[in-house]
Amino acid sequence: MGDPRGFLKFERDKETDRPVVERVRHFREFGEQMPKEKLQVQASRCMDCGIPFCHQGCPLGNLIPEWNDLVYRGKFDEAVARLAETNNFPEVTGRVCPAPCEASCVLNIDSVPVTIKSIERAIAEHTIAHLEPIRRGTKSGKTVAVVGSGPAGLACGQQLARMGHSVTIFERDDRAGGLLRYGIPDFKMEKAILDARVSQMIAEGVTFRYEVAVGDAVLLDELLRSFDAVVLATGAAVPRDLSLPGRELAGVHFAMEFLTTQNRRVAGDTIDESRALSANGSRVLVIGGGDTGSDCIGTSIRQGAKEVKNLELMPKPPLVRMPENPWPEWPLMLRTSSSHEEGATRDWGVMTKRFVGEGGNVKGVDCIRVRLERGKLVETEGSEFHIASELVLLAMGFAGPNLSVVKGVDVTLNARGNLNTDQDGKTNVAGLFAAGDNARGQSLVVWAIADGRRVAEGVAKHLSAGTALRAVGN
Ligand SMILES: Cc1cc2nc3c(=O)[nH]c(=O)nc-3n(C[C@H](O)[C@H](O)[C@H](O)COP(=O)(O)OP(=O)(O)OC[C@H]3O[C@@H](n4cnc5c(N)ncnc54)[C@H](O)[C@@H]3O)c2cc1C
Ligand code: SF4
Repeated sequence: MGDPRGFLKFERDKETDRPVVERVRHFREFGEQMPKEKLQVQASRCMDCGIPFCHQGCPLGNLIPEWNDLVYRGKFDEAVARLAETNNFPEVTGRVCPAPCEASCVLNIDSVPVTIKSIERAIAEHTIAHLEPIRRGTKSGKTVAVVGSGPAGLACGQQLARMGHSVTIFERDDRAGGLLRYGIPDFKMEKAILDARVSQMIAEGVTFRYEVAVGDAVLLDELLRSFDAVVLATGAAVPRDLSLPGRELAGVHFAMEFLTTQNRRVAGDTIDESRALSANGSRVLVIGGGDTGSDCIGTSIRQGAKEVKNLELMPKPPLVRMPENPWPEWPLMLRTSSSHEEGATRDWGVMTKRFVGEGGNVKGVDCIRVRLERGKLVETEGSEFHIASELVLLAMGFAGPNLSVVKGVDVTLNARGNLNTDQDGKTNVAGLFAAGDNARGQSLVVWAIADGRRVAEGVAKHLSAGTALRAVGN
């Protein structure tokens, strides 16, 4: 433990964001990192609790008090190695994780947790520009196919390669990353860090095969015959739809269509702008809160939307934690993202009734106010209203995994329509595993990485070559 009185001497502090007027002019990241000296002070606030609840809060079981102490002492190289033991991509979680660790930090009883996420990011930044491959001497002679290169597939593939297995990652897109690449906007996470990790993985022996849709270009059955094990890490990208009158109107789109187009623009891809989605000059209505809705808001504002409104079906959450939702539970309260701060008008307890159009184009939506009564949403009579909009983005989450990947293979699903797996990630089909959102349901990056790592251990057991992996390096 660094400074036993650190939490009494120093206030919580965190990274600041560049001013809104400046950051909405571009798609780059806008968080200003804290200087190392300030971070060391923040790390000294960690009390090194006898029972560190932050470990349990973090799905990866990051050894937070240990690397807080190393940062406090200025031992960044050792902190990098400690963090690498539990997290393959701290540069990613240090940017986009909602930090359940901070919610469960003992200092959060007083709402001033240790700045864990900023410290994690700073540790990751220490080496991201010069990542070295981590190689294990002996090759197992076993081959594994990983389908999907989102955080679950990348983490699983990297762990297995470091154990000595030959890993091939099949990805239907033209670049690796899954939703990290084509969902999360660059202003939250620039993609150079993904490229750095992919280069590291290639140097570690992982083969990437892009633009190969398994279930189409290659059948899963063929992979099962050609590889010793197959891991499906294909995400849960089937969007939830709003089947209402007027849904067919031009200008009503799924959020991912909009976000992917913008990420491709930033990546320098050729876009047919005469057909591509843009919020420029439009009144944009984003239906659905959450990360996807918030990302649509930030993207619309940067594209030059005339105005941006955001609707949420559920009632407005409380501004503070309620007594029935005590620490160390995840606090169910109103969250305001950096995109919300940039100028969206938010409204809660609103149900969309129909899309209204003219000449085949959407012109607005009819809505009604709803309230929760005994767990059910009830419409408030006489509360109908209309919102004018030329671009309506549907961001109501995802219904489940796309099952085209398992075509021809009889894979069991669970009650929620996700791939059914045991603790090791095994499905009912011999040699077939699943990791990430396709087995868990729509979730978080940190869970996808944790699942990828857990399933890698399950695959290793299956291949009878599993040795406990304690990664050294970065
Ligand atoms: C817009 C948006 C913003 C988000 N923001 C955050 C955030 O800020 N913080 C956070 O923690 N979480 C966020 N999430 C959630 C997070 O991105 C996901 O939980 C996470 O990416 C899931 O990882 P995954 O590896 O399981 O799947 P994915 O990231 O979805 O990756 C699946 C990969 O499999 C590929 N694939 C699918 N089918 C096939 C096939 N048949 N053949 C070959 N390849 C295939 C896909 O192309 C994709 O690359 C966000 C989600 C969205 C949509
Ligand atoms: S991965 Fe997320 S939960 Fe874990 S330490 Fe980092 S910010 Fe906290």
